[in-house]
Amino acid sequence: MDLRSDAVVLFGVTGDLVAKKLFPALYELTRRGRLDMPVIGVARSRWDHQQLITAARKSVLEANGRVDDEVFEALTRRLTMLSGDYADPATYRRLAEALSAAERPLFYLAIPPAVFTPVVDGLAAAGLAGRGRVVVEKPFGRDLASSYTLNEALRAAFAPERIFRIDHYLGKESVEGLRVFRFANRLFEPLWNAEHIANIQITLAEGFGTEGRAGFYDRMGATRDVLQNHMLQVVALLAMEPPAAAGDEAFRAEEVRVLRQVRPLSPETTVRGQYAGYRLEPGVAADSNTETFVATRLLVDSPRWAGMPFYLRTGKLMPGTATEVVVEFRAPERDLVAPAGGGERQPNLLRFRLGRNDGIALSLQTKEPGAEVASRTVELPIDFDAVLGHRREAYERLLDDALDGRHLRFAREEAIEQEWRIVEPILDLPEPVASYPRGSWGPAEAEALAGRWHAPTRR
Ligand code: NDP
Repeated sequence: MDLRSDAVVLFGVTGDLVAKKLFPALYELTRRGRLDMPVIGVARSRWDHQQLITAARKSVLEANGRVDDEVFEALTRRLTMLSGDYADPATYRRLAEALSAAERPLFYLAIPPAVFTPVVDGLAAAGLAGRGRVVVEKPFGRDLASSYTLNEALRAAFAPERIFRIDHYLGKESVEGLRVFRFANRLFEPLWNAEHIANIQITLAEGFGTEGRAGFYDRMGATRDVLQNHMLQVVALLAMEPPAAAGDEAFRAEEVRVLRQVRPLSPETTVRGQYAGYRLEPGVAADSNTETFVATRLLVDSPRWAGMPFYLRTGKLMPGTATEVVVEFRAPERDLVAPAGGGERQPNLLRFRLGRNDGIALSLQTKEPGAEVASRTVELPIDFDAVLGHRREAYERLLDDALDGRHLRFAREEAIEQEWRIVEPILDLPEPVASYPRGSWGPAEAEALAGRWHAPTRR
């Protein structure tokens, strides 16, 4: 493993991501004795040290409900503020002075994507990039062509092994758990194919809207925001073949291989929606055709999955917040037991809850009590919190990894390019988005796409 970074520079320290995720992550790292280096916050806003500390305390309080004064004071001793314009070379000169004692600084770009390249260029011109690592947030480009351009800009300044591309789903314990579930259990592997599985559904539902960031979201949409990255990462974990060898390298190579086998998404099997009233939000174009919901059918051209559909849907202002994978197994070959009460036959389902309240659940058929021999569904639920206890948050794990130069939980360049290739045919479609009521599962057309969606069980 490479040497640990000896300074952190947070560009965009006044922003939403730092407030929601990065201050709490820095606080947790401090608590665990993993943050013994200076942390420099950079922004255009002229914050003084006290404003920085106040913002950090507020964000830790909001994330944890309480602040441990001793831990927080240890964090504040590390924090300093540097204000400046990103187009001004003097900003980087001052940063270089502040970093004069640091040999391996970590630069975290928590800034809008439009500013990634100017900041990277500024760091390179000031001679700071050569000895540093850089963390780039998603979205990584807007399409395949712009992701190439961004890669070129990053590679011109930083060595490839010093570039860390965030897809925070890769830092989630529940998502990483799919790897263990797939390859450490013999039980399901023989059934893990199109012969025994009817379809796999992934729902990433947000019960909230654009939360005051509609102007930013309007240039993005659901496909770029979560389908291209988080959801396709989950597809890769579910669909990949067992790696050729143990270890992280072989695992990551296999992940990229399966993404290559995913067919480009088709507009004919995609439904885009927009919640009612979205166009009235500040920052949204009055004729905006941006999708706040997308549902699509995805096919993997591998022998294991040939012809079997993956159904993906994500949206804002859904009936709740949940990320759930539902694996629907095929019906028994012979129909020997009828459902109790003459109802509809229920398939075996395996659910992976990947969001809050993460866990696994299996629905099985058992005998309905009584004189008749008829079936009824029972659930075998496992809540990870109850059996595994507290697990570290994704951003804390990712920041810790980047400080150590560990790549496993960061998105690979080839994977990101494959993800853009897959979604490209459904980006910026001219057909008007379908409106859907707030608090619903999207436009009616989306319901028909999967035949039958299985709603998340915990919301
Ligand atoms: P914000 O919109 O909150 O912007 C962050 C900071 O960047 C602002 O506080 C502002 O600071 C500065 N900034 C804004 N516009 C410009 C500009 N045109 N030029 C230079 N600086 C600017 O972004 P977020 O914190 O929400 O996101 C940061 C990054 O993280 C983005 O790439 C985003 O895609 C990504 N991300 C965010 C998530 C979130 O939950 N917020 C989730 C996942 C990824 P100042 O004016 O003080 O310099």
